[in-house]
Amino acid sequence: MGTILSGKEVAEALKHKLKSEVDELRKKGVVPTLSIIIVGDRADSAAYIKGAVKRCGEIGIECSVTELPQDLSQDEFLKVIHRQNADEKIHGIMVMRPLPSQISENVVKYEISPAKDVDCFNPVNVSKVMSGEEGGFAPCTPSAVMEILHHYSIDPKGKRTVIVGRSMVVGRPLAMMLLKENATITVCHTRTVNLAEETSRAELLIAAAGKARMIKKEMVREGAVVIDVGINFDENGRMCGDVDFDEVSPVAGMITPVPGGVGAVTSTVLAKHVLEACKRQR
Ligand code: NDP
Repeated sequence: MGTILSGKEVAEALKHKLKSEVDELRKKGVVPTLSIIIVGDRADSAAYIKGAVKRCGEIGIECSVTELPQDLSQDEFLKVIHRQNADEKIHGIMVMRPLPSQISENVVKYEISPAKDVDCFNPVNVSKVMSGEEGGFAPCTPSAVMEILHHYSIDPKGKRTVIVGRSMVVGRPLAMMLLKENATITVCHTRTVNLAEETSRAELLIAAAGKARMIKKEMVREGAVVIDVGINFDENGRMCGDVDFDEVSPVAGMITPVPGGVGAVTSTVLAKHVLEACKRQR
């Protein structure tokens, strides 16, 4: 049985570190504050917001949630963004996506101040992730993967690394972040010809495809570190990852569970970014 890499443990350790820094800032009268903006109702966004507000609260970070109507025009939406960009009490802004069709993400992403863009929506921050430049904000989910690797002293340097998934929220930025730490990367997707051949070579395998339990034991190299980013629900409504945990965990050297893996770290990383934004803005 591979060692379980516990996201909860990583999140707790990070939480304590962040809380002591936030406590110091609060003593000086500075309250790190996150604004979450949501347009319309979405059950998945509501669940994410609940988790983020709870986690930020535990750390001492203030959260304000702006709920806007589903039919809001793009101009009105941009006014909200501009107001929050200018508000010195707000240090981080996160816009829940997807936005309704009348509001173009391709317009909005340029309008959030890069200094407050704690989940890497603005192309300025995206380009910093791509080029490996410091001083931006990487997206929270790939950052959570990196937190787990760092916490367990897993050095990606020189490791044959395979990422399944190439989205802008997970696979692509993660490839760049791991490349910065000198991993040797292969990124797989739906047009990859022989996925099992690629994944079974990986010393570090990261699944971010959004397909329940698609990674089977014959796709995993003995002793590999397996990080499962997927959040899916099986036919019984049970949450599961992209990795078939029961099959793969005896083969893997180390493995993250779902739930309790990457997902458990993401909201704490968000809090970390808000604190960082606050420190930079002071
Ligand atoms: P997307 O649907 O945007 O991207 C999925 C990627 O996986 C695509 O690049 C797609 O390839 C690839 N893919 C899908 N099926 C296969 C397959 N059978 N074989 C090979 N590649 C495949 O998803 P996201 O990146 O947004 O999310 C991925 C997963 O991570 C989801 O389960 C999501 O719920 C989870 N997630 C978890 C978070 C967390 O905090 N833990 C946060 C964000 C997401 P192609 O490009 O060719 O279509």
